[in-house]
Amino acid sequence: MTDRKDELAANLARVESRIAAACAAAGRGRDEVTLIVVTKTYPADDVRILSGLGVRHVAENRDQDAAPKAAECADLSLAWHFVGQLQTNKVRSVVGYADFVQSVDRVRLVTSLSREAVRAGREIGCLIQVAFDAGDSGRGERGGVAPGGVAELAELIARSEGLRLGGLMTVAPLTGEYAGRERAAFERLVDLSTDLRRTYPAANMVSAGMSADLEQAVAAGATHVRVGSAVLGVRPGLG
Ligand SMILES: *Cc1c(COP(=O)(O)O)cnc(C)c1O
Repeated sequence: MTDRKDELAANLARVESRIAAACAAAGRGRDEVTLIVVTKTYPADDVRILSGLGVRHVAENRDQDAAPKAAECADLSLAWHFVGQLQTNKVRSVVGYADFVQSVDRVRLVTSLSREAVRAGREIGCLIQVAFDAGDSGRGERGGVAPGGVAELAELIARSEGLRLGGLMTVAPLTGEYAGRERAAFERLVDLSTDLRRTYPAANMVSAGMSADLEQAVAAGATHVRVGSAVLGVRPGLG
């Protein structure tokens, strides 16, 4: 446990200095970027250690894993972000612990989130996940809506009870015109955010960048980076 604490502290310090350096290089204040640690596949004990090390935001991508972990960590004052593809049959559970759902990408999900948030007496911050690799279906391989679908979802979220429009999120695309061009994809997300804020000034979250590309995200103007493996270690298998 102490070893793990030392390991996480060292990793966290490295990520912190990367974020600080990226902010400095971009002429941004360190307080303009929030670190969200993605704890998926790692145990609640790690979340507890991270909380002790000053982490305030954590993210998960599977309800089956996240729900018990969040329950075990309910005594910690953490903000929980849900970042995975979300089926409507999991929405009731997710709304029970998530403060933010960053993967909102379709009308049916908004309707369901609103209904369950109202039922639970909670307010959920919603980020629209934008897919820059969306094909003719208008949806990305790993979830997300094409840029052209953002306005409709934003309007619906903004007038849905129990929901608050937080902003936009993306995962750097592996295919399509932005493959291998993370910085360009993140800049496009920031442009979309600028448009969105003309109508919804409070929807100012721009969630982009992971362990491999957080520098590009900070340079582009991201307000939230989601970092997993650089803090917790490389996940065995897919996760
Ligand atoms: C796993 C995950 C991350 C973190 O990825 P790392 O490469 O481990 O930093 C960020 N965002 C989403 C949506 C994820 O699923």
